[in-house]
Order: sequence, then structure tokens, then C-alpha cells
Amino acid sequence: MLATMQELLAEAELNQNAVGAFTAPNLEIAAGIVRAAQESNTPVILMIAEGRMAHSPLHLIGPMLVEAARCANVKICVHLDHGLTLDMVKRALSYGFTSVMFDGSRYDLEENIRLTNEAARLARACGASVEAELGTIGGREATDQDESIICTDVEQIREFSQRVDVDAIAPAIGNAHGHYKGKPHLYFDRLQQIHEAVAQPLVLHGGSGISDEDFRKCIRLGMRKINIATANLDAMVQASQRYLLEDGEHTFYGLNERITEAVCASTLHCIDVFRHPDPEKHLS
Ligand SMILES: [Zn+2]
Repeated sequence: MLATMQELLAEAELNQNAVGAFTAPNLEIAAGIVRAAQESNTPVILMIAEGRMAHSPLHLIGPMLVEAARCANVKICVHLDHGLTLDMVKRALSYGFTSVMFDGSRYDLEENIRLTNEAARLARACGASVEAELGTIGGREATDQDESIICTDVEQIREFSQRVDVDAIAPAIGNAHGHYKGKPHLYFDRLQQIHEAVAQPLVLHGGSGISDEDFRKCIRLGMRKINIATANLDAMVQASQRYLLEDGEHTFYGLNERITEAVCASTLHCIDVFRHPDPEKHLS
């Protein structure tokens, strides 16, 4: 069933864990994520970033994700990831997305606040949730440029959080989109300071490549939504490769099922880690 991000974040806050937000650029991947959510009876967020729409056009992927969420027997939020313009926010809302991110991180503080609140006004009119970003998360998701990481300033995010009407804020703490160059180095001290300065739940972008242990630490320090894209896309490519290298007949439907299975398994692992940030407590 369709749910807002705000609803899922409130549950995560109550349980002191995090909700997984998974990029779903095609049917097989969306099916794998929904299967994982239903098998584990856990709410998830299906999302698509504006930067991916050259390959996954919004008018096709949008209605599909909304229907997938609506027909599921667990709560699912459909989220626009890294919306770069108010026009894109409007378009996503028009397809029934229950959450939008307006990424104003490339603007100065005042302009980011102004545009974020404009996006929030549009979202609120549709009953949808809003995510904002401050600081520079590494890698490439929002734009074509490979961004270098600039950690979010604590005083800036304190002011930002008080002046924007949003349900979640994504800070930059050393995280990056895509594949990390080397081992990810997250600045947990900074995250702790940001968590103390900000009332809203925090979002960890660039989750693929971060260790389970670091995920758990991030959740204990206030991350309530964790974004995963590359891990599932890689799972899909690797499953396809394994299938095609096997002996015997290869069919489209065989390939299709392998992809969905692999994405489901990869998503289930994330869900398990995000649900139980304190594994010892979970076992006892
Ligand atoms: Zn992101």
C-alpha cells in the first residue's frame, strides 16, 4: 500500500532503525525490491532520481512504481530522488509520488532554503513528504559532474533545518554516490554533531559500499533513511552474467527471474541490517 516517507520515518524513529530507499529504474528491479519488502514484511521506499530519467523516463517508470506500491501488501513510499527543479517536483507529484527530494545543494544557503520551501509547498498540497540536501555528497547522481565531497557545516545545517519545512535532511559526511574510490571514510563525529543540531530525521545517500558495521553506526547516530542504488544495479549485472555463462538454454524469462531474485536477495540483506542496528539486542 502507498505510504508517505514521513510515515515510514516516524516508524523508523520509534524503532530507532532506518528505512531502506532503493533505486528502481526498471520493472525487474522494482519487482525484486517489492518481493523483498513483502517477504520480510518491512516497509521500503522505491525511488528514481532525476539524473536517471534519460534511461528510465518518468512518464513510464513513475506510474509503474506507484502501482507497484499500491498493490503491495506492505507500506511502500514512492520517492523522487534528487529532484533538481521545481518543474520536476511538480511532474513527480502529478504521477502520485508520495515523497520528493528537492536537491538544492548546489545553491547558496539562502537560495537552497527558498527553493526547498517552494518544493515543500508543492508537495504539501498533494500530501507528500519532502527531503532536502545540504553539503556536497560525492560521486554522481544528481548531475553529470563527479562531485568531490564537502562535509556539511554544522552551524549551517542547524539554521537550514530551522528554516525549511521538510521531513528529512541529507547531510554530506564523507558519503558518495556510485562506487567508492577506495574504502569509504565516513566522518562520524560530524554526523553526531549534525544529529544534535537538527530536529529532522537524517538521510544517508551513497549507501552502496558502506560496511554493515558502518551502517549500524550511522543509524545509531540518527540516519533514518538509507539510499541504495549501485549495490542492486551491480547485483543485477552479476546475476545476468552468471546466468548467461551457464550451460544450457537461455531465455528472456529465465534471465528476468534471475535478476529479480538477485535484487531481492541484495535488498533483503540491506533490510536486515537497517532494521537491526543493534545486532546483539536483536539476538538476545
Ligand atoms: Zn543521493
